Amino acid sequence: MLTLVSPAGPSNSTCGYCSPPGVRSAEKTFAQKCGLVGLQMSVTVYKQLIDRGFRRSGKFRRTWCYLPNLPKSCCPLYTIRLDVSEFKLSKSKRKLVNRWNKFILGGKQPTEKEFVLTTTIHAAENDSQSSDHKFEVILEPASYSDDKFKLFCKYQEIIHHDPKNTPSSFRRFLVETPLRPSPIPYTTTQTSHLPEKYGSYHQLYKCDGVLIAVAVLDILPGCVSSVYFFYDPDWDKHSLGKLSALREAALAAEIHAAGAPEQPYLYMGYYVHSCVKMRYKADYLPSYLADPDTFEWFPIDSVCIPLLEKYRYACFSDPAKSTNEDPRQVAAEERQIPPELLSEVNAVTSIEKGVVRVVPVTKHPIWEEEEDRLALTACIAGMGNELAKEVILYLE
Ligand SMILES: [Zn+2]
Repeated sequence: MLTLVSPAGPSNSTCGYCSPPGVRSAEKTFAQKCGLVGLQMSVTVYKQLIDRGFRRSGKFRRTWCYLPNLPKSCCPLYTIRLDVSEFKLSKSKRKLVNRWNKFILGGKQPTEKEFVLTTTIHAAENDSQSSDHKFEVILEPASYSDDKFKLFCKYQEIIHHDPKNTPSSFRRFLVETPLRPSPIPYTTTQTSHLPEKYGSYHQLYKCDGVLIAVAVLDILPGCVSSVYFFYDPDWDKHSLGKLSALREAALAAEIHAAGAPEQPYLYMGYYVHSCVKMRYKADYLPSYLADPDTFEWFPIDSVCIPLLEKYRYACFSDPAKSTNEDPRQVAAEERQIPPELLSEVNAVTSIEKGVVRVVPVTKHPIWEEEEDRLALTACIAGMGNELAKEVILYLE
């Protein structure tokens, strides 16, 4: 499976975590090291990209996935993941699931004696005559529907005060994906309730036949990666966002239990310590943050948070690199790419009748243009040696 990506270079924009949208302020900077427009991408390459700090882009970024520059951003974005196999639900999260089950099933149903996430989370889906409501959860490959788009518009207007949504912006943001599905290597046959393939999905929540929420997910080798969640604000009091995070953790555990080999994790997007309303992600334990330099995982509660309390930018593998310096003053890092690596990075010269012709990137005419060379070296450095050799660059 070839992965073809178009590189985008470093850029700066207004930070979305500490500034209201539309307000420009020099100190409030989100810096991007590089970005990638995916033409097609294997699920294994994308998993490696998110393990190096990349992530599918938010609504306002031009590229499909991007790599934030943490030292040069006012609100550094750290990749966070929850170790699902060790996940201990707090009392309040167990209560939330029990309350939802009770709401759907009604008072008459027996409550589960023991709380086991992967079974208790599904208790309300049993379609019983005596239930108060009918609750369904449907996992389907990401696709457009008018119902999803209408729900998305209502959510954006009421929760984010953003009335400017179109079917095409919705498609671009939450439907289109370069990920090419590939079979999940289950070793058991108990998989009828699970996805057959890795890829990009929509998980639909319906109550009494009406769509009330949609989770946008990437299901990848070794993880479920939460991309976005939108819901009907009329259902606010049921905390559907929290229920969906628990359901996604359960899904990762179920895929692993059915034989998928990798240890299961839930990737909850970025952890942004400077943005208080994003700190809820630290309540899911045990969670780990990726070190911005080495990409090793550090426990959020014992190592990361104490450093993030002290520094705007924290480096967990080498705390001496942590800083409170103004992000605009931080020097750009030196980027030296060894020539022998460059000779192994390939760029497309033509695609004809399914045949892709490539040359080493330094032999491509675009390499002669300084600005393009900057974008290319930023992307090669961001992907790292192994991935840079694996993907094929598509240069326009
Ligand atoms: Zn900020």
